[in-house]
Amino acid sequence: MTTPVWHPYAHLKTQTPAPKVIGGDGAHFVLEGGERVLDATCSWWCMIHGYGHPRLVAAIREQAGELCHVMLGGLTHEPADQLARELVRITPAGLNHVFYSDSGSVGMEVAMKMALQYQVLTGHPGKQKMLSLMKAYHGDTTGCMAVCDPEEGMHSLFASLLPQHHFAPAPTAPFDATVEQVEHDLNALRDVLERHHHEIAALLMEPLLQAAGGLNMTSPAYLTGARALCDEFGVLLIFDEVATGFGRTGKLFAADHAGVTPDIMVLSKGLTGGYLGHAATLANDRVHDAFIGDSPQHAFMHGPTFMGNPLACRVALESLRVFEEDDYLGKIGQLNRVLRCELIDNEQLSAHSQVADVRVLGATAVIEAHSAEALAGVGEFARERGVWLRPIGRWLYTMPAYITSEAEMVQITDVMKGWFNRT
Ligand SMILES: *Cc1c(COP(=O)(O)O)cnc(C)c1O
Repeated sequence: MTTPVWHPYAHLKTQTPAPKVIGGDGAHFVLEGGERVLDATCSWWCMIHGYGHPRLVAAIREQAGELCHVMLGGLTHEPADQLARELVRITPAGLNHVFYSDSGSVGMEVAMKMALQYQVLTGHPGKQKMLSLMKAYHGDTTGCMAVCDPEEGMHSLFASLLPQHHFAPAPTAPFDATVEQVEHDLNALRDVLERHHHEIAALLMEPLLQAAGGLNMTSPAYLTGARALCDEFGVLLIFDEVATGFGRTGKLFAADHAGVTPDIMVLSKGLTGGYLGHAATLANDRVHDAFIGDSPQHAFMHGPTFMGNPLACRVALESLRVFEEDDYLGKIGQLNRVLRCELIDNEQLSAHSQVADVRVLGATAVIEAHSAEALAGVGEFARERGVWLRPIGRWLYTMPAYITSEAEMVQITDVMKGWFNRT
C-alpha cells in the first residue's frame, strides 16, 4: 500500500516499501506480522537502552500526568532544572551552563551562534567563520550543512546557499596512534589556524569519531592538541558529541578520553535514550559570562518552541539513572571486547579483497569496503538473517544498543562478516 510518508535519504524511484514497526523490546524491534529484527544501529544510534525499556516508558507516563509541555521563555520546571544540574555534573569540568533545543542540528546551530556572538561581545567582530574538518557531519539544517564535509557530505547540491567556512583535513592518526603520528594531523590544523585565525570564531569537531562522514576514528592526543591550538589562536573549541556522547566511544563522553574540556559541547541522540527528540548545548563560564552585559546585543536570540520539554527532560533524567545504576560503561566494555574479538582478530576479514579497513572503538565497529557497490543488497541479506543493518556509503557499521547481549552482538558481527564471505 502506498503512503504519503516521504522517507529520508530515499531514492523515490527505486525504494522498496518500508516495513512497518509495531513495537519492540530490548535490542529487537517487531514488525507487522510478528517478525523480530535485531537492530544493529539502535535507530541512528540513539536507542541506547533498546526498545520498550520499562523505566523509561514509566517516566514518560508519569511526567505526562503532571506536565507535558510549557514554554521555557520566562518559566522553568523541575525536570529542566534537574537535568541541567545532572548534565553539568557528568560532563567535563567547567561546562556549567545548559541551553536546550529539540534536535542535534539545532543544538549545533545554537553552538555556532553562541561562538560567533561570544567573539563579537569580547571585541573580535571579525571572527565570523567556523573551522570544521573534512569528513565532518553536523546535521542537515542550513547552518549545519555549511560545516559538513563539502565534498562527500551529501549537501554539495546546496553549496550556493551556504556560507563559506574553513576546513582542515580529517585526522588520519588512528585511536592508538603515537604522538608523532598525531603531530602530522595537528600541523595541518595549525596551518589553517595560522592563516585564518583572525576570521575564525570556533573550531568544531566530532571528537574521536567522525560518525556519519565515514566512522573515522582518531587519537585522544588530537583533542588535546586541538585544545592547545584553540587557546593559542583565540578560537573557541566546540565538541559535537551528538553521536559520541553517552558511552559510544567507551567513556561517557569522547572528551573524557583526553581529559579535555571544550568551550561548548553539544549533546543529543543518546540524551533521552532516544525516547524523545531533544538536545543540550553546554557552555563554560568564559562563554556564558561574556553574555552578561547591558546592551541589547548581550541577549542570546534563540529559543526553540520545544526547548526544555518536560517529557524529554524527565526521560533524559531516567535514562541517566539507568545508565549509571546498570553500569552501562561496563556493558559497553563487554560489547567492545566482542567486537574486537569477532572483527579485528579476524585475518580472513581484513584480508578480503573488498575490505579496505576494519575499526572498532567503544560500542562502534565498522567494516570499510572499497566501494558502496560492494555493499549493495546488504540490508536485505541482514534482514533475512534477523538483523537490521543500514550502511552509510561504503561503511558497514554497527552501533548497537548497550543492552545488546553477547550472543546478539555475535549474531550481528556474524552477519557483517557473512556478507563478505558469502559465495
Ligand atoms: C545526528 C547528528 C547530528 C544531527 O542531529 P539531528 O538530531 O539529526 O538533527 C549532528 N551531529 C552529529 C555528530 C550527528 O551524528
